[in-house]
Amino acid sequence: MAKIVVKFGGTSVGSVERIKSVAKILKKKFVKGDKVIAVVSAMAGKTNELIKYSEQISKNFSKRELDVLLSSGEQVTVALLAGALNELGINSKSFMSWQLPILTSGEHSNSRIINMNIDKVNKYISNKGIAIIPGFQGISETGDLTTIGRGGSDATAVAIAKIFDTDVCEIYTDVEGVYSTDPRHFPKAKKIEKISYEEMLEMSSLGAKVMQSSAVQTAMLYDLPLHVRSTFSDKEGTKIFGSESIDYNKVITGVTYSKDDAKVTLLDVEDKPGVAAEILEPLAKSSINIDMVIQNIAPDGKKTDFTFTLKRSDLNKAVKLIKTKKKFLKYKSLTSDNKVAKVSIVGAGMITTPGVTHKMFRSLAKEKINILAISTSEIKISVIINEKHTNKAVKKLHTVFNLD
Ligand code: ADP
Ligand code: ASP
Ligand code: MG
Repeated sequence: MAKIVVKFGGTSVGSVERIKSVAKILKKKFVKGDKVIAVVSAMAGKTNELIKYSEQISKNFSKRELDVLLSSGEQVTVALLAGALNELGINSKSFMSWQLPILTSGEHSNSRIINMNIDKVNKYISNKGIAIIPGFQGISETGDLTTIGRGGSDATAVAIAKIFDTDVCEIYTDVEGVYSTDPRHFPKAKKIEKISYEEMLEMSSLGAKVMQSSAVQTAMLYDLPLHVRSTFSDKEGTKIFGSESIDYNKVITGVTYSKDDAKVTLLDVEDKPGVAAEILEPLAKSSINIDMVIQNIAPDGKKTDFTFTLKRSDLNKAVKLIKTKKKFLKYKSLTSDNKVAKVSIVGAGMITTPGVTHKMFRSLAKEKINILAISTSEIKISVIINEKHTNKAVKKLHTVFNLD
């Protein structure tokens, strides 16, 4: 008899029929004797729909009320799933986050789970029922509803699995596991059998939506194995765990991409100590994160160009902030580009293999793709390119690194 935490994403509970199928999966586990806690997302598209409603009300919709609104999506699915299980003759009960409670800290729409009380759920599953918990939400110390970021049900599931001290946390989704690149857009993508936390964390942060990055981070911190698998087939999915147990026979594990970056360039800034810090200071004060930074060498030792990348959603605010300091920063002109994409290769195998960077850049050059910015870590290389070349770049890199 095992204690298990299973999470079902939006597509998996996207219709009444699908919720009934999920109930059957849960029933099977329960009948086998497992103690089951299920975490569910809102029905596919629901969260986006609710966001749109709020935008129709106001461009500055209250963040507190937005969390109240968005958390309703998951409230619908927990109730329907518990009802579907009852219909199959299984005891099941939903527990909203305030009923436990699941405590969070941080600002609205970007909170994180800090603690939860599991007594009620423990008691319930010991008395032979399946507990259903909504993903993506919690309550703050002041008792307000909060949400924990898009895709946050993954993080809820991992946090619950950790607190319940389960052996594994199963993430049921609409693909059969983690693939070498997005299988919906690249048919040559291959399912990965095992992947390390570190690689998964890089892939998630760099655009592989299949797992939310903070969920992977928590799993890594507590060494909690994850199993990403399909709701629509019985096939084994992808196991995510510590890298000690993985043989690296490939240099690269995956190619990821995201289209939510933007690039800003300041032409002819003074080339003297402190200028970069001055440019970035107003952005830091406004909590705008900077990703990549490039500063050219000044040929005359006096003026240089300064480029940085940031989240596309922060672009307008960042440009405004810098323009207000134009007199002080003394740059000639400012250009920005929000039609850029970040394409990355990720793989622990690159640590021991020389020439990976060269191979990546040469492959992109052969496709006549210009690299606008670069960043690297031990297990990833990311480049910023023109957004229109994304598909070509991903396909090429997937092929040259033998992932097809
Ligand atoms: P859920 O609603 O179950 O949480 P998501 O939509 O958040 O599911 O994540 C699953 C989606 O992630 C897939 O449908 C797929 O298009 C996308 N995806 C992107 N990169 C990858 C990848 N490397 N492997 C698997 N899926 C990926
Ligand atoms: N429903 C939320 C979202 O769409 C959380 C999740 O699906 O994980 O982001
Ligand atoms: Mg998701």
